[in-house]
Amino acid sequence: MAYDPNNIFARILRGEIPCTKVFENEHVLAFRDINPQAPLHVLVIPKGAYVSMDDFAAKASPEEITAFVRAIGQVARQEGVVETGYRILANHGRDAHQEVPHLHVHIFGKRPLGRMLAKD
Ligand code: 5GP
Repeated sequence: MAYDPNNIFARILRGEIPCTKVFENEHVLAFRDINPQAPLHVLVIPKGAYVSMDDFAAKASPEEITAFVRAIGQVARQEGVVETGYRILANHGRDAHQEVPHLHVHIFGKRPLGRMLAKD
């Protein structure tokens, strides 16, 4: 799938749409989900134009990959969920209901999160 530069997260990265930022550096932006599924629900995205985890895993530089993984850890620490626990999730494609075609990792926390997957 080709990257769509008009997807909503590309527009957030360009500052065309506001977000509630929780972390930013050269390679990564993290912000609160507009429709939170848990008391903590943050989206961590690379600044590069990557459609999904598949695209990122194949094409991102070592620096981008390192920055992305470190940012996920940093956000969890600064949001105070390392002790209580948290879940990270990245949807890729149709079966996972990926809605926004720019890689994002969800971080959920601050409540018991239940089982990993529903059965249906
Ligand atoms: P996906 O299903 O693609 O993994 O998740 C997309 C997520 O993006 C959803 O949780 C949705 O609430 C969030 N989202 C969609 N549009 C916006 C927006 O404009 N701002 C923010 N902060 N989150 C958004």
